[in-house]
Amino acid sequence: MQYEPVIGLEVHAQLRTRSKVFCGCSTRFGAPPNSQTCPVCLGLPGSLPVVNGRAVEMAAMAGLALDCRINRRSLLARKNYFYPDLPKGYQISQFEEPLAVDGRVRVPLPDRGTPGVPGTLRELDVGIIRVHLEEDAGKSIHAARQDTLVNLNRCGVPLMEIVTCPDLRSGREASDFLDYLRRVLIFLSLCDGNMEEGSLRCDANVSVRPVGETSLGTKTEIKNLNSFRFLNKALDYEIRRQVRVLESGRQVVQETRLWEEDREETRPMRSKEEAHDYRYFPDPDLLPIVIPAERLEEIRKTMPELPADRARRFGSQYGLDPGDTLVATRTPEFADYFEASAERARNPKSVLNWMVGDVTHRLRKDGRGLHESPVKASDLGELIRLLDDGTISGKMAKGVFDRMYETGKSPGAIVREQNLAQISDRSELETVVSGILESHSEAVERYRNGKRGLLGFFVGQVMRQTRGQANPKMVNELLRKMLDQ
Ligand code: ADP
Ligand code: ZN
Ligand code: MG
Repeated sequence: MQYEPVIGLEVHAQLRTRSKVFCGCSTRFGAPPNSQTCPVCLGLPGSLPVVNGRAVEMAAMAGLALDCRINRRSLLARKNYFYPDLPKGYQISQFEEPLAVDGRVRVPLPDRGTPGVPGTLRELDVGIIRVHLEEDAGKSIHAARQDTLVNLNRCGVPLMEIVTCPDLRSGREASDFLDYLRRVLIFLSLCDGNMEEGSLRCDANVSVRPVGETSLGTKTEIKNLNSFRFLNKALDYEIRRQVRVLESGRQVVQETRLWEEDREETRPMRSKEEAHDYRYFPDPDLLPIVIPAERLEEIRKTMPELPADRARRFGSQYGLDPGDTLVATRTPEFADYFEASAERARNPKSVLNWMVGDVTHRLRKDGRGLHESPVKASDLGELIRLLDDGTISGKMAKGVFDRMYETGKSPGAIVREQNLAQISDRSELETVVSGILESHSEAVERYRNGKRGLLGFFVGQVMRQTRGQANPKMVNELLRKMLDQ
């Protein structure tokens, strides 16, 4: 029997606010343990939470970007459970009436298609069940042969939970979706997307069913997937495991499982019977969240361009082919650099080639990011312009780029300084070429008698005399013209 995997993701994204969601404590990562706490986020008796308006607006913007319906009024609820990293004994979250519901995301993906035919894009359509606001818990550290330690700096850090419909069909689709969602959040400056620091986390729900079956199978939920690689590997493993279970005539048990990277397998964490009853109820200390329609319109208007829209625009405005539009919109930084450079260069394809080539290689060698590039975007554009208008040759351009990278100087300044400019003056080159032909009359004779291979010899002579600065295309043209007359 053939089985079809069915996957839905629950993504937690830390909102990029300076302060926590219900108190004024800082959200900065990496501070000394327990240095960023106060009575509110420690849950001390008598303290009262106040919702961070920025966090609400950011979650609402995410909802708009994911094509959701934003509930004008939503509720903050207590999710009750006991754990040492949760000093209040409950997490403030949203249950009934979340901030945003019923969205969808169209993930643009390259479609390689037929070899030789320019690639197109295909879209992966993923429904969004809900987007809600909640607070993070602290972090327990279980070191070997030591007491368990608790760091409460994360308590009350604003999170947004994004829950997808069970629309994904493979580990690959799940990670393609997560990659695009991450880019959306980064382009909108809502989340830094750093999975290593835990700013973006993902749980995966997965089941399998016979191909053709329309009802859903029993699912398991996999926790602890803090990289794209783990998400992919864990899902592939879990899909294989569930198929094996069904094929041996047993049933999949609905449970939460944990990905164990060392053993490359998932193992049970808790079953449905052990699942908590969280006794959700609206938090009596907090008012419902109400976003006025005018405010929502303002948020919509100030929303930066989404990566897919930007990619589409790069296609029409700069004539990039579909695959290249995705490359150029990997990060907002890359897209900004590309645009600033393309404006100056007037040769967008060449800008992109330089960016993924020389620029990226040099930066990577030095462990630098694009924002630390000594070569400014407009200067790269200028370099490409000098190359395209024949002022410098391709070979010279490489050298000029290296100088630009080392000194931060503009290409124009370097070309002047090193007297590099290519000779593209027709009459100047004509003089050189006819001089060379006169002093090699014997070779000219042999060329005219059919030894066409000598053309390279003449080109070499002209290049030698001009110390490599003659425009090669023009030299070839002139030589042919004068030799063939
Ligand atoms: P729960 O009540 O267990 O939290 P939800 O209905 O809230 O489950 O869904 C949580 C996530 O699990 C969503 O991403 C949803 O798409 C996914 N999901 C639900 N049922 C299934 C299933 N049978 N197979 C795979 N994913 C599922
Ligand atoms: Zn606090
Ligand atoms: Mg649920």
